[in-house]
Amino acid sequence: MAITTKDLQRLFALIAGDIATQRDHLCELDGAIGDGDHGLAMDAGCEAAAKAVGALDPAQTAPTAVFNAAAKAFLNAVGASSGPLYATAFMRAGAAVKDRPELSDEEFVRVFAAMAQGIQERGKAEPGEKTMVDAWKPAANAVLDAWASGTSLPECFELAERAARQGCEATRDMTAAKGRASRLGDRVIGHIDPGAASAAIIIASIAKFALH
Ligand code: ADP
Ligand code: MG
Ligand code: MG
Repeated sequence: MAITTKDLQRLFALIAGDIATQRDHLCELDGAIGDGDHGLAMDAGCEAAAKAVGALDPAQTAPTAVFNAAAKAFLNAVGASSGPLYATAFMRAGAAVKDRPELSDEEFVRVFAAMAQGIQERGKAEPGEKTMVDAWKPAANAVLDAWASGTSLPECFELAERAARQGCEATRDMTAAKGRASRLGDRVIGHIDPGAASAAIIIASIAKFALH
């Protein structure tokens, strides 16, 4: 079934709601190996994106414009490093489905992969460097592999959710090569990366969305 602008409005609202409930937890994670603001940053960014997207007229707005509005709002609302990373993700999502009035399941898969790719390219982080890429990349790979072998959209994103959760868990044993935590050396071992944790939450929200 096609994914419409109305559906995307619901998706952004879902993400904002799920991130809001984890705001304090994300700040605690960032407090251990960063500056403690990650929950506030993600909450502000997702809230602003959902609000901007929710204000669009679905009859007049194509998915690309939805993602572009989300990118702009997220970037404006967030002063932390997650700002440009997610803004790039949403811009890439929009660019991946340019001129499409609504999205097929395959196009939604493409959107998801483009987001992960955008984050990786913007931050220049490779998997294993204790960043949100450690959740996004395995999740995107899981979706692309599952979709290519004929798996249904809900199942693809169930696999993505699991891959993101495992990727996030795996950051516990890593030292950080990017971002603030990279200055702390071995002291970050034993702590989950906050950006990977928020990514896992967002990907779980997308998996919930893909069920309907
Ligand atoms: P800041 O460190 O500016 O306060 P946030 O707290 O919002 O930013 O986000 C921190 C998270 O950003 C980290 O946990 C990490 O996942 C992610 N991050 C930082 N630098 C990069 C990068 N170069 N590439 C990908 N992710 C990054
Ligand atoms: Mg921070
Ligand atoms: Mg900060």
